[in-house]
Amino acid sequence: MNYIRLALLLLFQISTICWSFGQENYKTVTTEDSLKTHYGGTFYPVDIYEDNFENESPKNVILMIGDGMGIAQVFAGMTANGNHLFLENFKNIGFSKTQSRSDYVTDSAAGGTALACGRKTYNGAIGVDADTVAIQNIREYAESLGMATGVVSTSAITHATPASFVAHLSQRTLYEDIAADFLKTNIDVFIGGGYKHFAEREDGKNLVDTLVLKGYQVVQNMDSILKISDGKLAGLTAYEHNEKYSERGDMLPQATQTALNILDNNKDGFFLMVEGSQIDWGGHQNNTRYLVEEMLDFDRAIGVALEFAARDKNTLIVVTADHETGGFSIMDGDMKKGMVKGAFSTGHHSGVVVPVFAFGPGAQNFIGFMENSEIEPKIKQLLTSDNQ
Ligand code: MG
Ligand code: ZN
Repeated sequence: MNYIRLALLLLFQISTICWSFGQENYKTVTTEDSLKTHYGGTFYPVDIYEDNFENESPKNVILMIGDGMGIAQVFAGMTANGNHLFLENFKNIGFSKTQSRSDYVTDSAAGGTALACGRKTYNGAIGVDADTVAIQNIREYAESLGMATGVVSTSAITHATPASFVAHLSQRTLYEDIAADFLKTNIDVFIGGGYKHFAEREDGKNLVDTLVLKGYQVVQNMDSILKISDGKLAGLTAYEHNEKYSERGDMLPQATQTALNILDNNKDGFFLMVEGSQIDWGGHQNNTRYLVEEMLDFDRAIGVALEFAARDKNTLIVVTADHETGGFSIMDGDMKKGMVKGAFSTGHHSGVVVPVFAFGPGAQNFIGFMENSEIEPKIKQLLTSDNQ
């Protein structure tokens, strides 16, 4: 037996495992039984907005992705908030089939790419097709029409979902290349974690300096981000991923508001993608409390978007998910207390359809069953008919 070879092999395997934990440590399933139940908390009020618009097509589009948000996640949130969510304002509702080109159960890269680029691809792909050829995403299309664009996320901004609206790479784990792809765009606003992929890179480049040279205000805390209402903004709010809701607070609704304030300055409209990233992580961890808190945070960000759209009357909001996570179900609940007792069938994603909710001009196009890759062409068509 060659002991040195065996030792080297072991060392390699341990370092690989450590590396993957570092990037994806949110995936560890909890063994603590008390975390399966959300015992309730304070409820927030939900405003009602009229979905009654004269225009057939919108000037602005806000696409909101609850990563891992299936029907049970939505209803867990509704139960936890005393039987109400901002999502109830959406009267046009459909289902998205999330299967990727390579797998029945998609990952967030193929799921994000289908939503961003309108094409099914292999798991792990960021903005490229099955032959790793770059596909234009809806944000780039909007940019080509002279629209302002933005991306907001509670994960690292380089993580699969936001990356799908910016980058074109063969693998989701190429975080530094994804960060570099932000510099190739004309994106107006991005707010999320991932500072290290811009500033502390293996190639020694400091992309924060490059962002500043390109005219971006590069800001690392929400207090400063909240004060910005024009110009270009790179909000890098965490070294890697943002903390969970209990620690990061209202970062997502606030970042959504800031992005809307900036993007609305553009007379030719805007495209904004907002991701509630960590509903997925609550699912991976089989942690009902985590899942519910993230679901409610995402719903409050939807509330911010609704308030804007109802006032603006020219904004389409589409809310959907890239896939379901955890095979989550609700075993018991209490609307008065906001209690939700959850159960999970997997620590991974599941293959079930996810909901699609639409509000505003053109919303009636998003009802019934559809492939995840049909959502982007629908949005594109609505923007094209508005701009030509
Ligand atoms: Mg995500
Ligand atoms: Zn996931």
